[in-house]
Amino acid sequence: MSLLIKNVNILTFDKKQTDTTSICIKDGHIFSIGEIPPDFTPKETIDGTGKVIIPAFFNCHAHASMTLVRGWAEDLPFDRWLNEKIWVVESALCEEDIYWGASLACCEMIRSGMVGFGEDYFWANQVAKAVAQSGMKSAVAWCLFGENEIGKITMKDVRAFIKEWHNTHDGRIKCFLGPHSPYMCSPDFLKEIAMIAGEFNVGIHIHLSESEEQVQTSLKKYGKTPVAHLNELGIFDHRCIAAHCISVDDEDISILAEKGVYVAHTPKTYMKLALGIAPVDKFLKAGVKVGLGTDGPASNNDLNMLEIMRLTGLIQKNHLIKPEVLPNNVLLDLATRGSAMALGFEDSGIIKVGASADLIIFNTGKPHMIPKHNIAANIVYSSHPSDIDYVICDGKVLLSKGELKTIDEEHILYEAEKRAYRITGSSMEPMWNYKG
Ligand SMILES: [Zn+2]
Repeated sequence: MSLLIKNVNILTFDKKQTDTTSICIKDGHIFSIGEIPPDFTPKETIDGTGKVIIPAFFNCHAHASMTLVRGWAEDLPFDRWLNEKIWVVESALCEEDIYWGASLACCEMIRSGMVGFGEDYFWANQVAKAVAQSGMKSAVAWCLFGENEIGKITMKDVRAFIKEWHNTHDGRIKCFLGPHSPYMCSPDFLKEIAMIAGEFNVGIHIHLSESEEQVQTSLKKYGKTPVAHLNELGIFDHRCIAAHCISVDDEDISILAEKGVYVAHTPKTYMKLALGIAPVDKFLKAGVKVGLGTDGPASNNDLNMLEIMRLTGLIQKNHLIKPEVLPNNVLLDLATRGSAMALGFEDSGIIKVGASADLIIFNTGKPHMIPKHNIAANIVYSSHPSDIDYVICDGKVLLSKGELKTIDEEHILYEAEKRAYRITGSSMEPMWNYKG
């Protein structure tokens, strides 16, 4: 498997400028940048003339199969959104729905330049199957409550899932443990999770400190903030993705920094469910590692990393009344390297010899991308997913000139839409008349 991308402009985030060069890819990795080695004979060549290449995006926190409930729980407060809509529809889910919902998410994510995502939902085996077929990468967690698990799964099933899938498909699929949150899971169950994470050497993906109410309940119940509570239970002694961390104090922030916790920041959900503003600028200044995520399409409602990057910058600038915070090169870094590192894809999110060939190529010839005074600013604040011409994961082309190469998109749209109407009790029919 070899690929040559010639005459392309590499955007270097630190220099905020582009250099025209060629990139040779062999066996999933960047083999050389610049001169094309004389003995390099690529199987495929992409002409990058006039285009810009950057590392591909990674989505730090998603519930991919919630694509099926996109637009179904609108304009509700968080508790009613969760109790009256989300929990209800989730009780109607079957295992196959997860596969089709996740496949729909893969189509959408690839189209907006993502090659990997941190998944936290049910029937993680089906998500892993969809990811394996799509050619993407994922850190997949099976969302667990500690009792009354959806699909009636047991810890024995979770262990079997990890044994079957962890570090498979050339390392494209990793398993995480997914205890839902400190407000849904008991301390004993969380301790057990920490123990299993150590046993299998896998990470933990959890929701944390989403509201002041959760903090107050935790203080009453455990005498500690949710962050301090998880720290005491040993959750942070392992790689940990903590989604949200909206209501955190200075002491919480120093725990997150000291323990190397990766905070998954998902601003569109916060705005839509009116959850407040997470202190991203403060996190970065305190040394907390941050990645960007979409969250699930039930609260997002799409899977578009360009929008997430943009919102992250705009919200912090406006909230702090400081336009200089989170410059565009930092936002690009959070959406690429920041998220990739959180998920454990440590060779990704960077363009250098030896790194994973996880790359995206932008067409910069559209009206909203002209002129090119600052390409990074154009990508962060002006670009659209349809500007992404190529998406490459481990050297394999997943999207080429608008066409998904590894996925039967038409079949997925049909199946996913049909299932979405079934689980929500709707009598509507899919718009696609898929014939196979
Ligand atoms: Zn979430």
